Amino acid sequence: MADELRLIPRWAIAGAFLAFVLTQYYFWIVVPAHRHHPSGVPIPLRFYLIISWGALAALYMLMIGYISNDAPRRGMSTRLWMLCVIMPGGVGAVLYFLLRQPITASCPACGAHIEGNYHYCPQCAYQVASCCSNCYRSARITDIFCVHCGHDLTASQPPTRLHAFTR
Ligand SMILES: [Zn+2]
Ligand SMILES: [Zn+2]
Repeated sequence: MADELRLIPRWAIAGAFLAFVLTQYYFWIVVPAHRHHPSGVPIPLRFYLIISWGALAALYMLMIGYISNDAPRRGMSTRLWMLCVIMPGGVGAVLYFLLRQPITASCPACGAHIEGNYHYCPQCAYQVASCCSNCYRSARITDIFCVHCGHDLTASQPPTRLHAFTR
């Protein structure tokens, strides 16, 4: 979670602060000045509503900042998604979180995109995750026997677990 929060850039935090201040200014100063008759909403409720609107606006800014750094590491188009998310109504943001792709990493050998469930690089066959050399399903690097087929992982040539450890 802390790592995720670190994705929010400084400008988004500044923007969130500004958005909060601006909403407060708008609802406390601008709106009452343009009203011809006093508002019927009691003060405590008005406080609650206006603070909520401010918090919502601030959160929105933080989310835009988060997406600007989250989209690239998932191989998604940042420009397209920023446009979607900035559209009013927050629909773009909901869509983003529904549709976002798994985090992509790159192959240490050739730099190709690697997705979370890959065992081998699609471009150069570099082993990026340990797997059984008999059934090719995932194996943890600390396993001695394959949990799927019982194959002795230490007998693999090169040993799956050592190979993953030394990469
Ligand atoms: Zn590769
Ligand atoms: Zn196996």
